[in-house]
Amino acid sequence: MKKDEKAKIAVVGGGIAGSTIALYLSELGLDITLFEKGPSLVNGPPICHLHAGGNLYREISDEQCITLLKESIDLVKFYPDAVDYRPTVIAVPLDDAGKPQEMYRRLNRLKQEYARLIEDDSSNAVLGRSSEYYKLYECAELESLKEKKGVKKPKNADEWMIAVAKHLDLEKLQFPLILVQEYGLNLFRLASVASLTLRQKENCELLFKHKVTNLQKNCGNNKWCVSYDFEGKSEIESFDFLINAAGFRTGNLDDMLGYKRERFVEFKAAYVSQWENYETWPEVVFFGERGTPKGMAQFTPYPGGYFQLHGMTKSITLFDEGLVKSSDKSAQPELDTKFLDKIEKRWKDEDAKQRGKLAVDYLSSYIPEFEGAKVCAKPLFGAQQIPGNDDSLRASNVSFEDEFYARCEIVKASSVLSMADRITQQLIYLGYVEEKMLGKRNFTTMKALKTEDITDCAESLCTDRNYPLCLAHTVVSS
Ligand SMILES: Cc1cc2nc3c(=O)[nH]c(=O)nc-3n(C[C@H](O)[C@H](O)[C@H](O)COP(=O)(O)OP(=O)(O)OC[C@H]3O[C@@H](n4cnc5c(N)ncnc54)[C@H](O)[C@@H]3O)c2cc1C
Repeated sequence: MKKDEKAKIAVVGGGIAGSTIALYLSELGLDITLFEKGPSLVNGPPICHLHAGGNLYREISDEQCITLLKESIDLVKFYPDAVDYRPTVIAVPLDDAGKPQEMYRRLNRLKQEYARLIEDDSSNAVLGRSSEYYKLYECAELESLKEKKGVKKPKNADEWMIAVAKHLDLEKLQFPLILVQEYGLNLFRLASVASLTLRQKENCELLFKHKVTNLQKNCGNNKWCVSYDFEGKSEIESFDFLINAAGFRTGNLDDMLGYKRERFVEFKAAYVSQWENYETWPEVVFFGERGTPKGMAQFTPYPGGYFQLHGMTKSITLFDEGLVKSSDKSAQPELDTKFLDKIEKRWKDEDAKQRGKLAVDYLSSYIPEFEGAKVCAKPLFGAQQIPGNDDSLRASNVSFEDEFYARCEIVKASSVLSMADRITQQLIYLGYVEEKMLGKRNFTTMKALKTEDITDCAESLCTDRNYPLCLAHTVVSS
């Protein structure tokens, strides 16, 4: 292929990684074909946290937290309509081995880093003022906030804390509680933005229900042959550059090409509940040691009294044998069929009910009135990959096995733009993209989308996937 010819690029997988890179590269003018075996985009695990600072993970390094902070700021600017602009409150239970004070050093580092990012570029101030990145609440302050009337549209940290002060069992918690500007990310809205943008791109072919079944290197004049099944027929098409964005199935594609790679795959689930409590809540996170019966509990609000629940115990979000590792024989960790059945077919009703009920019970041990909440939809669930051999890794983006093969390996959604930049850099090196395109963020098709259209499309995705319409909405919009 001559350097000035347009490269043909195949993206396998239309999760957040594949959709974002297809969107990004098609906005740069490249010819993209996206193969997705499912019927729509971004229909993988239930992303709901932006992770702007990684404060939910006490076990990760400061460097990973800073990376997540920067990447999240970039993501908020790129996908503003998919962000829920409400804060997160971190509570450390009395029976937890940690202390809230142990978080101060890191929070201050993140605050400084955020201030520096704003100094470099004022458009980075998407998490509010750096001086207000976090705020501490002692017991006495919460006792006095308890007396205040709940606020429908909180405008400051104290107003956000009213629902928390009124409903949390403060006797079970250490002080201070920490309010931090870690926002939410709405999966349905993100899927909607990616779908509406990509549908308008003539240079991006979106192939739904197309399952890639084989890959071959060096076939014909082109570099890659992609075999796929569609409606019972098998076809082959050739491409110059291949992007593996197959999520937890990334190893299957590596195996097709004979590439070795270490990775973990983990299956997890969250539960959708409804509570007759129409107060406006921030996210609330109760710390705990992962995998023990006291694992972290996460209470993620949507409008209309809906809450997404995680409990990092083996009877709620985590599963026995739910974390598996690749082997010398295969780059694809082998999940037990009981998990694959949940992903490809359906959950057994009993299983979904039992885990959902345990999630409600677990959260109500910290929020007693929440006991009256009902599980109101099927679980939100899926499997994710973690590259390498450290299963606590949270900040990673892409690796290149070959000059013409990029393997997307995000652990957190916020890493997709670092991933896009590194792939763009590779395409510049190959002569497929002009150097001035590196780091580009302002794309006209995306920016022209109307909020009402984004909401309509997000709602129809909720309907198609059988989830309540409220999940297409945010507690606070941009
Ligand atoms: C319960 C749970 C909660 C989570 N919560 C968060 C959160 O709050 N915030 C956050 O940032 N991250 C969260 N994560 C992690 C996050 O969901 C993943 O890291 C992210 O979804 C990975 O995106 P991806 O595009 O790489 O993969 P996926 O979203 O899995 O997409 C891969 C796509 O590839 C397609 N595909 C696979 N094989 C083929 C093939 N052969 N042919 C065609 N198509 C194929 C699949 O159908 C799928 O659509 C969570 C994960 C889980 C499991």
